[in-house]
Formats: sequence, structure tokens, C-alpha cells
Amino acid sequence: MTTASLGPNTLSIHAGEATDPTTHALNTPIYQTATFAFDSAAEKEDAVDRALEWDPGVFFYSRTGNPTTYALEQKLAALEGAEDAAVGASGMAACATALLSVLETGDHCVASADLFVITRVLLDDVLKARGIEVTHVDVTDLDAVAAAVRPNTKALFIESLSNPHMDVADLPALAALSREHDLVFVVDNTFLSPRLLRPLEHGADLVVHSATKWLGGHGDAVAGVVAGRKSLVDKVRFHLDALGAAVSPFNSWLILRGMRTLGLRMNASSTNALAVAQFLESRPEVALVSYPGLPSHPHHDLARKLLPDGYGGMMAIRLHGDVDTMGRFAAALELSAIAVSLGDVHTLVYPMPKRDNLIRLSIGCEDVADLIADYAQALDASAG
Ligand code: PLP
Repeated sequence: MTTASLGPNTLSIHAGEATDPTTHALNTPIYQTATFAFDSAAEKEDAVDRALEWDPGVFFYSRTGNPTTYALEQKLAALEGAEDAAVGASGMAACATALLSVLETGDHCVASADLFVITRVLLDDVLKARGIEVTHVDVTDLDAVAAAVRPNTKALFIESLSNPHMDVADLPALAALSREHDLVFVVDNTFLSPRLLRPLEHGADLVVHSATKWLGGHGDAVAGVVAGRKSLVDKVRFHLDALGAAVSPFNSWLILRGMRTLGLRMNASSTNALAVAQFLESRPEVALVSYPGLPSHPHHDLARKLLPDGYGGMMAIRLHGDVDTMGRFAAALELSAIAVSLGDVHTLVYPMPKRDNLIRLSIGCEDVADLIADYAQALDASAG
């Protein structure tokens, strides 16, 4: 069987992993080791040389490569339909090394206006300070994206579903534009996961994730991944290694374990989120529900084409009223934790007083009737 013929749930469980040939352990061990020992100096030299040329599955030091992390990388590559994937210490390590791999001083990057706040810090503070120019545009406006391209533009960086406003990016159109202008098209797919969207199939060159979120799914490990052509991923590995952004083997193992239920969790969260979004939209206290699965979402038609398996667990809402109304609502919720982060089996709510009282919801895998009852009582309580 080739992985190309297997379905996403089968890949989530099987890809990258095999029974341990020595012990017959079914599950991938946590190779909690910093270094690897060799029989001879020549053997060590050969392993170091090959590992630093990014030969797959060659290990000499766990900053550069580790067998538990490698199993996770193979699973992620299979799920994204990528030649290779590199896992690093966090989603930000993934974003940073993807961008550093394709941009040099003097280059220009076109990026979404709506992005995770620390990705904006990376682009606008870290990269700009090193002589990389950045222009932010509304990437749902293709003319604006084309107009932002300059002779020195080398990359287009977007989020497939944007954080926090939930814009759906037209990946095929943006990929065509990137090809026309010879840009490396980098897509942060954190909000959707490869179970719902595989950007490489739509023409992206690199896909990045905060694996901390839906991939891990249990809110217990921070990690990130970059997937794509091996020639590009090799450059990412080089930067992860040189910047010291290695993930711990234990965190790789936690993400690996979480990923076996990716399909089950994404199905549950998508189904729950659609029902919660429909419920919230029906309530008079709610001014806005931004969820791509609702016909009221401005990009719903595009979402229907790009997301046939579900619209995911993320939504943004806004209540009528002020910051105190928002506060009362959030505090009254009993099944949603007030927390940053997302993609957990536990529903999370993230009120944003500095962003016009937008509230980001990450809908988990609880029973949907319980979630809706909880939102109903919290809306009642929000009136004060
Ligand atoms: N990309 C997106 C869309 C995110 O929402 C986040 C974190 O929330 C990141 C990247 C960064 O991920 P991490 O927290 O794992 O560094």
C-alpha cells in the first residue's frame, strides 16, 4: 500500500510509525536522548555528514534530528501530501524558519493584514529590522495582493483561515498569482489542519502549523511544523538547527499521540462549531458570528468549495453591548475556559477587549447540547 492510496484517518494512525523491530513495541518510543553513539570515528563522521545534508532518518544529535520527531515529521508529511516536513519547537519557530528560508536582506514579502499577532511581530519587528521589507494587504482582495508585488518580492505569507477574523483565503487564486510573480507561497494552516484543508494540493509551496493546536489537540505540548518540497524543507531544517529551535522528543511524542485522533476530533469540533454558530446567530444578544460554515459569512461559497469535510472549530463572535457585557458572558461560561490558544478538545474562549470586543471561540469535543446550554445561560448572564 502506498500512502497516496490511504485515507486521512488511516494516515493519522499509521503514517510515519511502525512496530519497533527490536522490542515489538507497537507505539513509537520516546527517544529521550541528546546524542547517539557509533562504533567508530568513521561511522560517526559519516552520520554527521549525512544528517547535515538532511538525509532522512540519520541521527547524531537531537538538536539536528531525533527518531521520535522524525516519526511525527513523516506522519505530517503524509497528511499534508508533502515530500517532507520538519518539526520545531513551536508554531512561531515554524513561521520564522519558513520565512528565513525564503527571504534575505533586501527582499520583500507580501503578507496578510489579518494574522496571528506574534506572526505580525515576527514580520514587522524581527524581519523588518534585518532589512526584509513587508507589506500587509487584505489577501481576500486579489487585486490588492497583485498591486503589492514589487520586483524584489520573494514570498507571499497568509493564513488559510485568518486569526482572528476568520477570512477564508482563495488558495488556488493566490497560488496562481504567486506562480505568475515567482513568489514562494507560504500558508499557515493552523486553524484548519490537514484533515480539513491541504494547501499544497491547492498550489502552496510551504505549509506551516502551530502543532500546539489542532494537530496535538490536547493543549499539552508546544510545537510547530513546516511541510513542502524537500529542497525547501531542507532549508527549514538548516535554520531550525542553527537557531536551536529543536522540539523535545517528549513533545513530539505527545503531538504524535494526539494526531492519531485528528480526524475524529476535527469532525467533532466542526459539527459542534456549526451547531454553536447557528445557535449564537439566532440569539438577539449576538451582533456578529463569523464562521465560514454559515451562509452569512462573506466567504461561505469559497469555504464550501475548499472545505468539503467541515469548516473547523474556530469562530469569532461579538456581542451587543460593551466590554463589561463581554466580560460577564465569558465569566459565566462553565464549559469554556477563558484562555489563549486553540485547537484543544476543551472548548476555549478568548475575549479581545483591544480588538473591538471580538471573542474568539475554539470549539472542542464536548457534547454539543451541553455547549449550547452553556452558551445560552452565559448570554442570559451577559445582560447583567
Ligand atoms: N500561527 C497561528 C495561526 C497561531 O494562532 C499561532 C498561535 O496561536 C501560531 C502560529 C504560533 O504558534 P505557537 O504558539 O505554537 O508558537
